Amino acid sequence: DQLGSAEAGVIVSRYGQHADVADQHGQLHRCHIRRTVESLVCGDKVIWRRAKEASEGPAGVIEAVNERHSLLSRPDYYDGIKPVAANIDQIFIVSSVLPSFSAQIIDRYLVACEDADIEPVIVLNKVDLLVDLEASERADIDAYLAAYEQLGYRVLRVSSRQQDGLSPLFNAMNNRVSVFVGQSGVGKSSLVNALLPDVEALTQQVSDNSGLGQHTTTVATRYALAAPFSSTAEAAIIDSPGIREFSLWHLDAERVAWCFIDFRPYLGRCKFRDCKHRDDPGCAIQQAVADNDIYAWRLANFHRIIDSMETQRPARADKK
Ligand code: GDP
Ligand code: ZN
Repeated sequence: DQLGSAEAGVIVSRYGQHADVADQHGQLHRCHIRRTVESLVCGDKVIWRRAKEASEGPAGVIEAVNERHSLLSRPDYYDGIKPVAANIDQIFIVSSVLPSFSAQIIDRYLVACEDADIEPVIVLNKVDLLVDLEASERADIDAYLAAYEQLGYRVLRVSSRQQDGLSPLFNAMNNRVSVFVGQSGVGKSSLVNALLPDVEALTQQVSDNSGLGQHTTTVATRYALAAPFSSTAEAAIIDSPGIREFSLWHLDAERVAWCFIDFRPYLGRCKFRDCKHRDDPGCAIQQAVADNDIYAWRLANFHRIIDSMETQRPARADKK
């Protein structure tokens, strides 16, 4: 009929009933999504067929989605939990020396990573500014990072400005699909630019080839980063404001506790099933803190996270 044979592709970005598919050569094609395809997001691997005649219509049709190995979701006011991006291998949680280092924010992102079962890598950026800190502030940051390493998380110390410590980060991106998260101002853009000076050109290329005209930053987009990596490697970054600013209010307190990996051995051992791990008698987590088996600041951050979930969870009374 009108369509060619089945081909493999990957979703670069999705717009309603259409999506941009990258073919095996990285060329983009604006395709129609078959109604039988139930859910489709950026990063999905798909089977598609290209239209035989280049005409006004879509360049092809997406017919099926491969199984995902990971899915990052975002709470949505109306839709509940909304999938945003698929097949992400790792999330770089970027923090920085200045304006402030926040273990609480790192813990929030770690919870999101654990919930989605995506490997986190903690990146401390702006290490060139460490010399400006008081010795005690430096010691605090070191202690937090050492604690994360002890929990089993990978920690990288870098300066995008001085191009310092970038090769482990660059190497970690080889053959993997990565996401950079972190508060505004920590240096995510600077870091991506230092690692991949061509990434801005890539952004441009995506919008041009798609025929979209204008680059839509609200849509999650997958940037293939083949060029600077080894010839056999495939690397990509997925980015969107929705990914950078994900929140956690769709999780319940029990799930958040499980996402604190150091709590796991103690969960289910508290005296009361609905233990909030505060002043509750017979709390196994409080006991572990007293025994120095769990850091007190991790438990404090857990409470801050579940408290803020209560206040930030929007009232959805008007949802129809
Ligand atoms: P983003 O909001 O996370 O994308 O952060 P930006 O990349 O826009 O960086 C925020 C500010 O931090 C900019 O003024 C950068 O020049 C600065 N910055 C980024 N990386 C470094 C670094 O390694 N050292 C220092 N001193 N400043 C940095
Ligand atoms: Zn407890």
